[in-house]
Amino acid sequence: MPAQPDMIIWGSHFRTLDPDLAVCSGVAIKDGLVTATGNDDTIRAMRGPGTRLVDGRGIAFVPGLTDSHIHPLMGTIRTQGADLFDATDLDDIRRRLLAERERVGPDGWVQGWGLHYEPFEETGIRGDLFDGVATGQPMLLEFFDAHTALANRTALAIAGIDGPVAFAEEATVVCVDGIPTGELQEWAAMRLVQDVVPDVDAEIRYRWFRDSFRRFSEAGLTAIHAMDGTPDELDVYRRLEENGDLTCRVVVPLWQQPDTTAAEMRDQLPFRDDRGWLWRCGAAKFFIDGVIETGTAWLVEPDMKGDGTHPFWPEPERYAEAVALFARAGFQCITHAVGDRGVQAALDAYETAGHAAGVHHRIEHIELVQERDVPRFAELGVVASMQPLHMAAARADGSDEWAARVGPERTSMAFRAQTLRSSGAILALGSDWMVAPFDPRLGSAWARLRRTPGRLEMPPRAGDQALTALQTLEGYTTGAASAISEDDVSGRIKPGYRADLTGFAADPVETDADDLLGLPVLMTVVDGRIVHEARKH
Ligand SMILES: [Zn+2]
Repeated sequence: MPAQPDMIIWGSHFRTLDPDLAVCSGVAIKDGLVTATGNDDTIRAMRGPGTRLVDGRGIAFVPGLTDSHIHPLMGTIRTQGADLFDATDLDDIRRRLLAERERVGPDGWVQGWGLHYEPFEETGIRGDLFDGVATGQPMLLEFFDAHTALANRTALAIAGIDGPVAFAEEATVVCVDGIPTGELQEWAAMRLVQDVVPDVDAEIRYRWFRDSFRRFSEAGLTAIHAMDGTPDELDVYRRLEENGDLTCRVVVPLWQQPDTTAAEMRDQLPFRDDRGWLWRCGAAKFFIDGVIETGTAWLVEPDMKGDGTHPFWPEPERYAEAVALFARAGFQCITHAVGDRGVQAALDAYETAGHAAGVHHRIEHIELVQERDVPRFAELGVVASMQPLHMAAARADGSDEWAARVGPERTSMAFRAQTLRSSGAILALGSDWMVAPFDPRLGSAWARLRRTPGRLEMPPRAGDQALTALQTLEGYTTGAASAISEDDVSGRIKPGYRADLTGFAADPVETDADDLLGLPVLMTVVDGRIVHEARKH
């Protein structure tokens, strides 16, 4: 007779993804683990004096959802200014920035995030477009992909930028006739201005982080794979956990940049096994390229504007050496690779470096991949981590910057989620917030539709790559668990597995993808604890 459960949820519809019992109505939980699944009578009979009985009628549970690519801390900090994510033209952007200037007052920095490239098609990306908004006040705006920023003259002056700057890595302070336009391409350039924005109070920042985790729980996320991190940031997770504010599991990688020296990398190896109850380290993150839209993705064939010929690491051999250093120390290696040449370089580096037993290296984004590289994912055990939601800027006529850059032939072969999955690769899905909204219902809709949900007339982009509803759920559950080698403890609702559950008003697999966004998240359970509940009692 097993010990009495801490909690029993009964009367629900559980889609378990457990091949032994695909659907059940009751689940027993003890010490953060599922101890039994079955029908209501069987499960309720396990009730003891201390068992909490949860009426789950009207809730359809799936295994807890994981966002396999998200920037929780950076995203929180960078999304505090004006939300420009869905701003459609320059006037719309100006209106939102005026409101932000009101908010920050005459001495503040006017900041915004989520810009898309399309509003700048006619004018080019120039800081003086917003001179009427932030007169005499510093302004720093970030594009949705976090690879480009736009500063005005005042902000550039504070950062001491008055002409071209030489960088060791791929980055540009864009200048015309020697004068900076305000456009800053890639981090090294962006950082020059970001670093002079005054820091906010640590307590305020902590509250921002806490609020983000609340919002993750409300969206039904029970785990996230963070995509940037530093040894210092591990303390943030430690503190969130101590205060009971860490409401979903987090894997935190250590971010390695081209200017990180080998000695600095070796100093980070001891952090491999740092962990709390819900968070852990153990991964290293690299970027081998940038993004298609700015011509910084590394492509086998140049894009239509002749760009895409450089990796982000000026010497890709050094990237491969860094991968080998971390792989041999038992780390999981994670590489941002958008372009097909970048994907190839990451696969090559992983093949040479090898991996510790049970560790899968990963490639993030994979917006383009060559036919010959597809089978290498399964062969090398490399995870394909993708975000079909990144097609959100797609236009039906292919005139968006992404499609214009790579041309129609490559656009028809974009984001090959179905091809990679059918090749036997592990497929994990995510949002890349703050690059895109983190709501997994929106991400799922894009994975299934490959067009804007609700716009049934819009043709899907490379529609043959659409995932089924079940494949999509697997990308957020079993695939996400495999991506971090935790498939024996999470991703399913099954005895012995973690009690991480996402409860919707209806089964998302049975819900039309166009209706997913309106599907309420009624309950989120992490480690056997209800961290979000939206029902009326
Ligand atoms: Zn990212």
